[in-house]
Amino acid sequence: MEIKKIGVLGAGTMGRGIAHVVAQAGFQVIMRDIEDRFVQGGLDAIDRFLTRSVEKQKVTQDEKKSIMDRITGTVSMEEMGPVDFVIEAVLEDLELKKGVFAELDRLCRPEVIFTSNTSSMSITEIAAATGRPDRVAGMHFFNPAPLMRLVEVIRGFQTSDETIEIVTDLTKRMKKEPVQVKKDSPGFIVNRVLMSHLIEAMRLVEEGVASVEDVDKAVKLGLNYPMGPFELMDLTGIDIVYHVTEYFYKELNKENKWVSPQLVKSMIRANRLGRKTKAGWYEYE
Ligand code: NAD
Repeated sequence: MEIKKIGVLGAGTMGRGIAHVVAQAGFQVIMRDIEDRFVQGGLDAIDRFLTRSVEKQKVTQDEKKSIMDRITGTVSMEEMGPVDFVIEAVLEDLELKKGVFAELDRLCRPEVIFTSNTSSMSITEIAAATGRPDRVAGMHFFNPAPLMRLVEVIRGFQTSDETIEIVTDLTKRMKKEPVQVKKDSPGFIVNRVLMSHLIEAMRLVEEGVASVEDVDKAVKLGLNYPMGPFELMDLTGIDIVYHVTEYFYKELNKENKWVSPQLVKSMIRANRLGRKTKAGWYEYE
């Protein structure tokens, strides 16, 4: 089956970015959210992003127009009926995702592959909500999707080889670099590596080995990372970091290395969650 029309569920941060990437690669896109204002918000954000790309001479005005013309926004789930492939990017809520996949299963042709952009949920469990678990996989994009080149392709417990091949090939056609995650495991590759880096940075500060500022400076200048671990936590949200470490601890055999540092709990109790509360490891205006 030739893939021409791709359904994207969710028009939030990730859904809109993914819809942009997919349309830019030449596919027709149907982007669905639950309310008109969310759909419109997604379309407007893609338009603004492309306007900046035109200003930077990365795309022409004509290319921008044809990319926008390939994207249709909708609130109707029925419009997923004729799509050839689905990428789900709704809220990170397992019951919601299972409901969405069960509904897709009723609406789409049996050969259509469904993928989820989940950062932490089990692909195996999401797939089990459908009658086609062999045709469900993870397709984990990074924010901002139009700029970040990586996609983690995740194999659930029942995903077929053919599905992985098709998803990997499609990732390349979207001008992204796929990596294969051979088992459905918490945090996949990137977030697992990232979390141990963040935990270790907090332990250094907790043990009094170095200051927050010097850990960030050392990581940026010594490892050539664009951001220090504390700057990154302030951007992501310190509460999110805490939830992810707790989840890893529970799912990855209660290994000590995933125990949350006391420091992160104190930060949450003090409501210093990062940029969103105007105070985290650093202060913000
Ligand atoms: P978001 O809150 O920005 O957007 C989610 C959107 O889903 C909202 O607009 C919401 O209205 C919509 N939605 C809810 N129910 C829906 C339904 N039934 N059908 C269609 N749309 C529905 O969230 P986000 O940051 O875009 O995250 C989406 C997914 O991507 C999550 O699974 C998240 O874990 C994952 N993810 C996020 C990031 C990130 O950096 N934000 C990175 C990689 C993966």
